[in-house]
Amino acid sequence: MILDTTTATPALLTGARVFTGTGDGLIDAAVLVGADGRIAAVGPAKELRAQAAGGPLRDVDLTGRVLAPGLINMHVHLGLALPGTAGAAIASKSDPDLLLVMADGAKRTLHAGVTTARLVGESRYLDFALRRGIDAGIVPGPRLFTAGHALCCTGGHGWDSDALEGDGADELRRLARLQIRHGADLIKVCISGGIAGEHEQIDTPQLTDEEMGSIIAVAHDWGRKVTAHVGPSETLRRAIELGLDCVEHGYQLTRELTDLMAERGVWYVPTITVSRCEEFFDAQGVPDWMKQRALGAGPRHWESLQNAIASGVSIAMGTDMPPAADFDGTTATVREMEFMQEAGMSALDVMRSATVRAAELLGTDGLGTIEAGAHADLVAMTDDPTLDVAALRGIDWVMKDGVTVRDDRAGLL
Ligand SMILES: [Zn+2]
Repeated sequence: MILDTTTATPALLTGARVFTGTGDGLIDAAVLVGADGRIAAVGPAKELRAQAAGGPLRDVDLTGRVLAPGLINMHVHLGLALPGTAGAAIASKSDPDLLLVMADGAKRTLHAGVTTARLVGESRYLDFALRRGIDAGIVPGPRLFTAGHALCCTGGHGWDSDALEGDGADELRRLARLQIRHGADLIKVCISGGIAGEHEQIDTPQLTDEEMGSIIAVAHDWGRKVTAHVGPSETLRRAIELGLDCVEHGYQLTRELTDLMAERGVWYVPTITVSRCEEFFDAQGVPDWMKQRALGAGPRHWESLQNAIASGVSIAMGTDMPPAADFDGTTATVREMEFMQEAGMSALDVMRSATVRAAELLGTDGLGTIEAGAHADLVAMTDDPTLDVAALRGIDWVMKDGVTVRDDRAGLL
């Protein structure tokens, strides 16, 4: 059951220690949420209560708890159809049925504490319909930023799932513009092979410089960033020279390349779970070759993440797996963050990668922080995630736009 209605009522959240996203640790503060679903003020409860005097005010007691910005997952596919039995069942669905699957995934994602998701490859433009439904308050789900369809060359990575195929600068320019026409916030392009393509290897280069350059130029002209599915360093080096903004997966990044990424301000979304999620692949019924390739990429993928950390690359959190999917007793989102911490990031940096820094990559104000003017997208838990992100396993309260959408303590979800 979803709490509240779709309309926020002014609320005063008291008793919690707060990770604001901008500070270094926790502060003792109350949070005043306005009827517009945004944070009106952060400060001493008494002052905020005085500030709200005269109007209706809902008290939310979060004594003994930690409040953090809602998580932002930067690599999500809500209609993911991998090779294998589960993927085939999804791919064969009609548009309305697939949209229902995506809506269900959106609801689970939100309840897992992910209040914003960046979609990097969906099918049949259904993501735009879903976003309209979520924004209108008729479908529960995270705030969505979407690339629409991913783009690839003929037979390139993703051609048999959601990617649109094009060859030559003209065709790819047109496909990029088509995504923007539908409302894409960013452009996603597959520039090398990957895990899920039968006839390729992870290090198969797939786009010419001219093709990559045409997509990047169009996107930048229209004020959109370009993120690339990419494995090998050499392909990535070419894309960086052409102005690429962000790297997904980066299965085989050398230290030299991560140094270049840091120098040029190129972002990295490691999706480290995808080379470690054996149980998920089994549950999806993926073919053996894909499972072997994914798990085989694991050690080098881990090294890539560690190279990026050592180089000081800007890292944002993303899972590729469904954000709320079970993984090692928690969600894929929380497990991804634990992996990032295990790879050498501080808990504080991992928290930032899934909040304030992810919002920076999205290029949007008012997300990923707890401060006046920001969207009241919040999660609460018992322990302090800035000391150990495993605390996120205990998320049991979620608010989006000032509406409480989950409260386990009240026995309501
Ligand atoms: Zn993906």
